[in-house]
Amino acid sequence: MAERWDAPVFDKQLILKYDRPGPRYTSYPTAPYFHEDFDAAAYAGVISETNALDQPAPLSLYFHLPFCKSVCYFCGCNVTFTKDRSLGDVYVDHVFREMDALASRMKKGRQVVQIHWGGGTPTFIPAPVLKRLWDGITARFEIAPKAEIGVEIDPREVTDEHLEFFARSGFNRISMGIQDFDPKVQEAVHRIQPEALTRRIIDRCRDLKFESINVDLIYGLPYQTTERFRDTVEKIAAIGPDRIAVFNFAYLPDMIGHQKAIPREALPSPAEKLNILEMVVEHFTHTGYMFIGMDHFARPGDELFAALKNRTLYRNFQGYTTKAGCDLYGIGVTSIGQVGPSYSQNHKDLKSYQKAVDEGGLAVFRGVRLTPDDILRRDIITRLMCHFVLYKKEIEDQYGIPFDQTFADALEDLKPMQEDGLLSLYGDRIEVHPLGRLLVRNIAMPFDAYLRKGDGAKRFSRTV
Ligand code: SF4
Repeated sequence: MAERWDAPVFDKQLILKYDRPGPRYTSYPTAPYFHEDFDAAAYAGVISETNALDQPAPLSLYFHLPFCKSVCYFCGCNVTFTKDRSLGDVYVDHVFREMDALASRMKKGRQVVQIHWGGGTPTFIPAPVLKRLWDGITARFEIAPKAEIGVEIDPREVTDEHLEFFARSGFNRISMGIQDFDPKVQEAVHRIQPEALTRRIIDRCRDLKFESINVDLIYGLPYQTTERFRDTVEKIAAIGPDRIAVFNFAYLPDMIGHQKAIPREALPSPAEKLNILEMVVEHFTHTGYMFIGMDHFARPGDELFAALKNRTLYRNFQGYTTKAGCDLYGIGVTSIGQVGPSYSQNHKDLKSYQKAVDEGGLAVFRGVRLTPDDILRRDIITRLMCHFVLYKKEIEDQYGIPFDQTFADALEDLKPMQEDGLLSLYGDRIEVHPLGRLLVRNIAMPFDAYLRKGDGAKRFSRTV
């Protein structure tokens, strides 16, 4: 019998059959359903509610540091391109104002169990300014002794001063973009990051004894072929980071203008992309990595894998995490939060963010308050995506609903997938099989009430 954490089985015909636009479910409802009726005042209301609870959830803080020196053509992040490093100081002042507005609303004694600095390029900002930011955070919030503290670094933009500061300050997770070691691909995406430089930074991170080093790769970039990308994949497996994310490049030049600089004819064909994906999954799962879900691999000793096994793995805007049940506060321009029964997003452009913070402290411009039905469906989707199994009785006990009757339509939609061997519909549970692991988004989609209403699918990238 297959275990839930066995490697996925790759079947090209089935993947092609189910390849369609679908959400990545870093939230439910997904971001296109956020609306501007949920504003800073609504956000303040949710913060008050959650802090009035007898036992508020632990805190997770995400900080978006948006600056980059130059554009990588594949990038879909919210970025402010500049060469002016002094912008970091002004930005940190605004982050302080936003944190003041949040910290003053927090019930005493709430501990922060997770902090993540993402971007943009956090290390574009000089180390002394990042130290000022860190001091500002620790002055306002109580950090739990074993908190998970992570930062995204760019090997091209990180100094030894940065790395020593992170190590000294208790950062324990380093995440870095590599994408592809191939110089031809790097040139085509306008991100020259010599392999020797990346290796040197990884070695330095190991010297400094960060608990976990994560690397990001991207497949589907220009000039990639299965054989060329194999070289990168083999080198990464040999380097042996703790976690590896391999993202599918979504080429959307009409939505992301700078992607027009990528020659369309240089992109691998859909068939070649599938070959690349197959090679990636096969190589990492044969070189000691466990498949966590969708696009993540981790060492068997990694807590992500333990969380998959014991069914506590969770998924939020930062991807897979072991910190389920936190109130996640997004701080900084464009940041997304998940507080109580809500999602919220800060203003997306720097000027609007800074103006909102100057005027009222909070900078949320849109969001959504979840209905009880949203919360129920989010839980089901999360369990399927993160645990590859869903026990109906657990849902029935928690939400007081008869599972089979409530989700008769979704169960009907899953029957063809059962026939294709992606999953089994048992009386007491839904179980995703190795053949269905790469298609787990498709398995979750029948429980998505917004897709059922009909207009959502075209807004999302393809499932594989
Ligand atoms: S460094 Fe990262 S955030 Fe900045 S443009 Fe490149 S991929 Fe995007």
